[in-house]
Amino acid sequence: MASRTLRLKNTWSNAVERFVPLRGDQTVTLYSCGPTVYSFAHIGNFRSFLFADVLRRVLEQHGYRVVHVMNVTDVGHMTQDHLADASGEDKLAKAARELGKDPYAVAAHFERAFVDDAVALRLKSFLGEEGSDPSRHPRATAHVAEMLVMIQKLIEREFAYVDGQGQVYYSVEKFPEYGTLSGKAIDELEVGARVAVRDEKRDPRDFALWKVDDKHLMQWNPHSADGWPAGEWERLRAALPNGVDPRVKPGFPGWHIECSAMSRAHLGDLIDVHTGGEDNIFPHHECEIAQSYGVLGCEVPAPDDAVDAGKTRKSFARYWVHGRHLLVDGKKMARRDGTFFTVRDLRDPREEGRPELAERLAALGFPSGKVAPNVIRYALISTPYTQPMNFTFDVLVQANASVERLQSRFDRLREIASEGSAASEEVRALVAQCIAGFDAALDDNLNVPNALAALFEFVTALNQREASLSPGDAAEALAGLHHADDVLAVLDRRVRSGLVTKSEIEAMLAAGTPPEEPLAAPLEPDAIIRAIARRQAAKDARDFASADAIRQSLKDAGASIEDLPAGVRFKI
Ligand SMILES: [Zn+2]
Repeated sequence: MASRTLRLKNTWSNAVERFVPLRGDQTVTLYSCGPTVYSFAHIGNFRSFLFADVLRRVLEQHGYRVVHVMNVTDVGHMTQDHLADASGEDKLAKAARELGKDPYAVAAHFERAFVDDAVALRLKSFLGEEGSDPSRHPRATAHVAEMLVMIQKLIEREFAYVDGQGQVYYSVEKFPEYGTLSGKAIDELEVGARVAVRDEKRDPRDFALWKVDDKHLMQWNPHSADGWPAGEWERLRAALPNGVDPRVKPGFPGWHIECSAMSRAHLGDLIDVHTGGEDNIFPHHECEIAQSYGVLGCEVPAPDDAVDAGKTRKSFARYWVHGRHLLVDGKKMARRDGTFFTVRDLRDPREEGRPELAERLAALGFPSGKVAPNVIRYALISTPYTQPMNFTFDVLVQANASVERLQSRFDRLREIASEGSAASEEVRALVAQCIAGFDAALDDNLNVPNALAALFEFVTALNQREASLSPGDAAEALAGLHHADDVLAVLDRRVRSGLVTKSEIEAMLAAGTPPEEPLAAPLEPDAIIRAIARRQAAKDARDFASADAIRQSLKDAGASIEDLPAGVRFKI
C-alpha cells in the first residue's frame, strides 16, 4: 500500500497540519471529551463523538494502533459552563434533584443509555473487548485521587491557591499562554469575567479546581480514608505521602481538572490528539492546557509543516481537533420547537413518548417510524466536521437512500462473488481508483463527502457492469466496499442472503435432521440453513403443515425463502 499522509485542522494553530505521532512505535493516543451523564445524549453530542470515531478508524487504516480514551463526566460539570469558573448547579445534582434520585443512580442510568446508543452507532471504542475496558471509558468519580494529586502539585508549584473557604483556584496570571487555543486575548477574558467576580478569587479570570459546598451530594474528604472507593484512597496516599494541603476542605472537583487527570492517568503526560465539540475550546480545553502545563511543564513539538515548525507548544496534546456544532432546520435545537432530538428519539420515537415524530418518520418511509442506527450514523458523519451541520428530515431521507443503495450493491456482490477466480483488469482498476479517491478525501482533513462521492462513483460503475461481472470481479469489488465500510461502518456485513443447493441439503439430511431450535431476529445464516433442511425433511415426510410452519417462523424472524430448481434461496 502506498504510504498515506493525514492532514488535520489543528485548532491550536488554526491551520491544517500534517499528522505525525509523538512516539515512534506506531501508537497514537487519542482523548475525546465524553458525555456528561445527566440526560440522554442528543444528535449534536453524537456528531462530535462520531467524527472522533471516523478519525480513529482512518488512523487505523494508516496502520497505527490507536489507544482511544473517552471519559464519562459524572460530577462537577456545572450548568453555567460557558464560563471558565462555572457557576450554577452541578448538572448531575440538578438531574438527581429533579428525578428525586441519588446522583450515582442517575449517572449509572444515563451512562448505560449512552453506551447503548454508542454501540448502536458503532463507535469502535464501545465495541468488543474495548467496550468493557474501564480504562478506555474512565469515570470522573473514580479518578478524584488523580485530580487531587494534580491539584496539590498546582498548589505547590504556585499555579493554584486555596481560598478562605478551602476551595482551590487556578491562577490564570501564572500562565500567560492562557487563551492561545481559543485565540481569546487575556484582556477580553478579563472584561467578560468581571461580572462574575467573587470575593474569594484573586482575579476574576481564575477558575475553580476544587469546590466546597455542604449541600453538594457528592463529597470527597482529601484528609480521611472515609467514604473513598476501594483502592482510591491508597492511590492518593501513595502519590502524596505528605497528604493534600490541610487548608483544602472536603468538596468536589471542577469539570476541567477531570480531563487533565483522566487523560494523564490512561494515556500518559503527552498525547497525540485531543478532540471535542467546538463549545469545548473555551473554556474547557483552555483550562485543561493551563492545568496540565502547571503540573508537568509539558510541551509538544510543533508539526514540521506548521508556521512554528522547529519550536514547541505549551500544550499536552499536539493536535486539538474540534467538531463544529449541529443545527436543526437552520436553528439551534430547541425542545419547545420540537427540534430537539436525542439519538433514542430517532431510534424509537414511540418508546420515547413522541408518537407524532414516529408518524412523521413513517410517512417519510422509515419502517415503523424508526430510524435505523446506521442511517443516523451516516447522516451525522456526512458533513465535514469543520463545518456546521444542518440536520433536517431531508438529510435523514437521503442518508436512508444512500445506505440502502450501498447495502443492496454489497448484498448483490456477495451473491455473485467467489474468491477463487481472478478479476478483470477493468474491475481491478475501478476498485483501485475508488480506494485511492476515498483515502485521499479522508486524508484531506477527513473530507467525508468527497470520500462518499468516490464511493458512489464506484457503485454507479458497478451497476453499469452488472450483467458482465464475473465471480472474481465481484470478490474484488467487495474488497473495495469492505475497505470503505471499515471507516463508514454503515453496512450490515453479516451474510444476509444465499443459495442452499439441493445437494447441500441432501448432505445435511444424510447426517440426520437438525434438531428443532427457536428462530428469532437477528437470524444467523447457519440457523436459516438448518431450518431449510428441517423443512425439506418435513416435505419429504409429506408433513406439509410443519414445512409451512417453518417457512412462517423464518418470515416472522425476518428471513424469506424461495424454492428454485437449484435449491432454496434465502434473504434476511
Ligand atoms: Zn473534557
